[in-house]
Amino acid sequence: NTFAEIDLGNALNENIRRCKYVKPTPVQRHAIPISIGGRDLMACAQTGSGKTAAFCFPIISGIMRGPPAQRPRGARMVYPLALILSPTRELSVQINEEARKFAYQTGVRVVVAYGGAPINQQLRDLERGVDILVATPGRLVDLLERARVSLQMIRYLALDEADRMLDMGFEPQIRKIVEQMDMSPRGVRQTMLFSATFPKEIQTLASDFLSNYIFLAV
Ligand code: AMP
Repeated sequence: NTFAEIDLGNALNENIRRCKYVKPTPVQRHAIPISIGGRDLMACAQTGSGKTAAFCFPIISGIMRGPPAQRPRGARMVYPLALILSPTRELSVQINEEARKFAYQTGVRVVVAYGGAPINQQLRDLERGVDILVATPGRLVDLLERARVSLQMIRYLALDEADRMLDMGFEPQIRKIVEQMDMSPRGVRQTMLFSATFPKEIQTLASDFLSNYIFLAV
C-alpha cells in the first residue's frame, strides 16, 4: 500500500512523492479513502500521526477535481472553498506550510490567518485569492465580522485538535463559524473532525456538525 497507488491527481501525487511520503500512516490509510468517498469523518489522531496530510490530501484533491467555483464578485470579500480550523498560531503556521507544499502547482491557493499578529498582512494575503483558509477561531470570527471572508462557498471543513480548541474555550467561536456555513444556500459541506480524545463535549460537537459520519480510531 503506497501513495503512488492512490490516485489523488497528478500534481498532488507528484508533490507527495517530492515530500518523500511513500507509505500512508494508519490514520491516512483509513481517513483518505473515506474522505475521498465523500463521507464525513471523526478521527482519533495524536500529534505525529500524520493527520495533517490525512485532511489536506482529500481537500486539495477535491478542489482540483471539483467543479470550478463561481465566486460572487466585489466588496473585498473572499470566498474560500475549504476551511481548516486549528487551536493555535503555531499549529496554523505548521498546517499552512505543509498544505502549501502539497498544493504546489495544483492551482489550489492556501492562506493562513491567526490571532496575536497584525491583521493587515493577512488581509492582503486573502485579497490575492484563497481556496483553502487555515485559521484560528478567534481571528476568523474577526474576519467574518469585518465582512472580509464569506463561508458561503465552503465545501470542506476540517477541525484539527478539536479537543484542544474546546479546552481553550473556542466553542462559541466555532459554533458561530459553522452557523455561517449552514446559512449557505448550497449546503454541501464535507466535514472532518480530528481529536486526540473523545469526551462528551466532542461527541456533541460531532453530532451537531457532522452528518452520517464514520468514526475512525486507529
Ligand atoms: P502530523 O501528525 O501531520 O503533524 O505529521 C507528523 C510528521 O510526519 C510530519 O513531519 C509529516 O511531514 C510526517 N509525515 C506525515 N505523513 C507521512 C508519511 N506518510 N510518510 C512519511 N512522513 C510523513
